[in-house]
Amino acid sequence: MSCMEKKGFATRQIHVAHPHLEGISPLATPIFQTSTFVFDNTAQGAARFAGEQEGYIYTRLGNPNANEVGAKVASLEGGEAGVVMASGMGAISGTLWTLLKAGDHVLADRALYGCTYACLTTGLIRYGIEVTQVDFSNLEEIKNGIQPNTAVVYFETESNPDLKIADISAIAGLVHGLKPDIKVVVDNTFVTPYLIRPLELGADVVVHSATKYLNGHGDVVAGVAVSSKEIIHEIAHYGMKDMTGAVVGPFEAFLLNRGIKTLDIRMTKHCASAQRIAEFLESHSAVKKVLYPGLKSHPQHELAKRLFEHGFGGMVTFELNCDKKRAETFINSLSLCALAVSLGDTETLIEHPASMTHSTYSPEALAEAGIRESMIRLSVGLEDPEDVIADLKEQLDKI
Ligand code: PLP
Repeated sequence: MSCMEKKGFATRQIHVAHPHLEGISPLATPIFQTSTFVFDNTAQGAARFAGEQEGYIYTRLGNPNANEVGAKVASLEGGEAGVVMASGMGAISGTLWTLLKAGDHVLADRALYGCTYACLTTGLIRYGIEVTQVDFSNLEEIKNGIQPNTAVVYFETESNPDLKIADISAIAGLVHGLKPDIKVVVDNTFVTPYLIRPLELGADVVVHSATKYLNGHGDVVAGVAVSSKEIIHEIAHYGMKDMTGAVVGPFEAFLLNRGIKTLDIRMTKHCASAQRIAEFLESHSAVKKVLYPGLKSHPQHELAKRLFEHGFGGMVTFELNCDKKRAETFINSLSLCALAVSLGDTETLIEHPASMTHSTYSPEALAEAGIRESMIRLSVGLEDPEDVIADLKEQLDKI
């Protein structure tokens, strides 16, 4: 363990893997906006390709900006190594391409981000991979879903958009107890390592849409995978380099590194504001149901209290006491909350999962996954929460 690894979360989110540049020592890592790196001679080039000498070759195989972020997120998640990719879907598909081969089976939660669902159920099945989905809040269903050829178990720490919390240590313990070589892959996008660290609870790989809270400013699309050194080496050299080519640009990696430096203080405010807004929504007569793990009414509030540190996240899902048309008018009339997909940004974003982020699901699959047509998803931003509440209240009062 390096001395930096013994430091606290905030110190590591700022300092881990900051490259030392001889004779210049810039405080912020410069942007290495280069596609390739010049070798001193042919022997050096050959040694780098053979993996006998450390050093950069070509940005698809590694770049100082991307490597800094990969190592930093690995440290924050409590993993040995990390790799940054061009998007969350790049990280997810690169990881799955690496861990799976034809004939393997994936057991996944029913409620997943729409494009992850599409990657599994219309993408990977084309290549001889079998996929089944069960409800991951039910350990019996998981146990019954494991098959002799199951190679990957896949779920989200907090499912999208129904905000179900996965009991990671119970799931990983069950799965590894049945078949130790199954890789438990967890999407930790909604929660971030500041609130829950799945690897410490027994998961094998963590993936992120770094587009969301890790970057936090709505100006980057990127993804990260974190795991053991061996698995990340495979994901970087097979899943990313050869299969998806989902390489992050140096500028995006630079912005992502800057965003991560304030992750803890942003998450603290997202959590505090989301708690207040969820409580407000629950108290309003026009609101039928609120899903937020920090509310006593959340079906897994006790589990959430055990798993979450520092707060219960920035995502709130709710349903209104009105028909679809009136709910659309409510969303369209808000002035501060922006109607947009994505999440984890400084701005509060509101969206309709059934017709937007989860439009890859058929109506039957949505119903099976517990994603109701009436659900509205709010990503609470960093504005003054009373202003967000006032915006919501003004329109709710009209229903
Ligand atoms: N995982 C989750 C939970 C998401 O919400 C998203 C995007 O919304 C993704 C993965 C995909 O990430 P990206 O859009 O960066 O490819």
